[in-house]
Amino acid sequence: MSLSSSPASPLEQILSRYWGYTSFRPLQREAMDAVVDGRDSLLVLPTGGGKSLCFQAPALVREGLAIVVSPLIALMKDQVDTLVANGIAAAGYHSALGSEQKAIVTAGLRERRYRLLYVAPERLASEDGAWFSSLTASCPISFVAVDEAHCISHWGHDFRPEYRQLGGLRSRLPGVSLHAFTATATARVRHDIVQQLGLTNAVTLVGSFDRPNLLYRVLPRAAVKAQILQIRQRHAGEAGIIYCPTRREVDDHAAWLVEQGVRARPYHAGLSDEERHRNQDAFLDEQIDVIVATVAFGMGIDRSDVRFVIHAGAPQSLEHYQQEAGRAGRDGLEAECVLIASAADFMKWRDILAKNGELTDARRALLRDIERYAASVGCRHKRLVGYFGEAYEREDCGACDYCLGELERVADAVTVARKILSTVARVGQRFGAGHVANVLRGHESDQVRTRGHAALSVFGLLRGASVEEVRGYLDQLIAHGLLQQMGDEYPVLQLTAEGAALMKDPTSMPSLSLARQRKPERGKLPRRSRIEAESWEGVDRAIFERLRALRLQIARDRGVPPYVIFHDTTLRELARLKPATSDALRHVYGVGARKAEDLGELVLRTIRGEESRQHEGHEGHEGHEGHEGKDLGYRS
Ligand code: ADP
Ligand code: ZN
Repeated sequence: MSLSSSPASPLEQILSRYWGYTSFRPLQREAMDAVVDGRDSLLVLPTGGGKSLCFQAPALVREGLAIVVSPLIALMKDQVDTLVANGIAAAGYHSALGSEQKAIVTAGLRERRYRLLYVAPERLASEDGAWFSSLTASCPISFVAVDEAHCISHWGHDFRPEYRQLGGLRSRLPGVSLHAFTATATARVRHDIVQQLGLTNAVTLVGSFDRPNLLYRVLPRAAVKAQILQIRQRHAGEAGIIYCPTRREVDDHAAWLVEQGVRARPYHAGLSDEERHRNQDAFLDEQIDVIVATVAFGMGIDRSDVRFVIHAGAPQSLEHYQQEAGRAGRDGLEAECVLIASAADFMKWRDILAKNGELTDARRALLRDIERYAASVGCRHKRLVGYFGEAYEREDCGACDYCLGELERVADAVTVARKILSTVARVGQRFGAGHVANVLRGHESDQVRTRGHAALSVFGLLRGASVEEVRGYLDQLIAHGLLQQMGDEYPVLQLTAEGAALMKDPTSMPSLSLARQRKPERGKLPRRSRIEAESWEGVDRAIFERLRALRLQIARDRGVPPYVIFHDTTLRELARLKPATSDALRHVYGVGARKAEDLGELVLRTIRGEESRQHEGHEGHEGHEGHEGKDLGYRS
């Protein structure tokens, strides 16, 4: 779309004026049109797809107040901060406000000062009848946007009973259009949202689930700390999330990373509320780079410049994986998602679910799917979108371990598989993966010696292969259903019926493929994805770093997270284009009118390298910023 050839529509003008964006992302225009036209709608886009803009921009076009329902205070605050920084009158009304702040917001509503109001679902329910009627009496409501709408469904991964109360909205706000937004794609959940909210003739828009800027890798788990450190080294000074399966591992890895000089902190449900919040805020405010967490960490985390997400253990489904890994690269810039997994992870999940009485066939199938993903030899983007029912057209995604040539297909997979299967059979199907790997590699461990297994004909069949390589094969054979692990504490490897069949008949599985990590050339770093290479092209790194420091300083002064000031995308663009005048600055992606006016001088000086004056610049600003926060009614 070219803005010069046709006059910009009101939405385009708003996008450019307040956000500094020049084009719509896929489905944004359609979704915004539905809101502007007052037609009920449901928009499904993956995390980072740009859903919030689809109700925020129309709120500025339509008359009246837009109400946004959001499940978490952290989410509300984040969005309100961002809007306010862009010069848009928005407020949140929630339990974390003091009575004085509530009074400010209430007065602002009466004066019809706001375009958007963020509230929790229970606020709109009948229980809070008085508040609700005073709201509707004080200002006309343009539309209601329900964010994270999957929370209304039992079938979603995050059901919240409060959301059920939204069912009454339709009758309580006759004539007001309802708009639902979610990143959860399954048909069941979609159907549920439409039903529960009572959407009529809803415009339904479902976007692509591919996240081309994410580089996916899977590593068989070996020395996990060394693996984490190596990934982190590619992202020194950048933001990352490391998910661990247990609290113990979270604490352990976090402490260890700190010893390694990484600015990291733990996050899990075993910490006090206070410590959890402190650590989360430290991450959002860029005081630390890395958060090591259980899955308790995530929803409502809107730090958009997360450059890597490591899973030090597999999650229980690909849906969980997509959600968690999806927290990387929300700004559209390159980010790396590494799943470090082993067959033991899936065993552990089956145990846990069985103990809780939750190991249904459906859960088994979900586990199986992610286990296969981890062991698959093929494009990971293709596999992930395929899982969500989408076709993937590209031959080479340019952003996964397979397409970057880091995996190597084993030349004669069937022969390798048969060597492994015979070894499992020869040790009597009574030993675990560690021992089987030792026998295959011809490694005389104590156990090999005491059992006399060095004398077996299979001893050393895969001599020369590394431990990781052999463990990787074992995991893959388990995922392909040729081997299984039995027993709780010390699981032993056994052949399945399919495994036994392949032993008898080498032609029984012609499509079997096995992969191993290609050995990196000495001193050579892994290749970068295409997106990464492009996004740094022409960027003056020194200016980028100076701008980052400036952003941090401004954010600290104003008490907001840095990404509220500028996204990395904008900083890179500034460091690439090096605008010299405020006019040129206004044309940079992500610089709206408000920010150009507010921060333009500082930014231009920083680009010119006038750092000392820049500092005086903001000390003078401090009083003004404090006032701004208060005026808008929610920052203390
Ligand atoms: P979601 O709610 O779908 O997870 P967000 O609304 O948070 O996604 O958007 C992700 C990021 O993309 C935000 O930083 C947002 O400002 C940015 N963004 C949204 N729409 C556009 C656009 N049309 N052009 C450029 N950036 C956009
Ligand atoms: Zn690929």
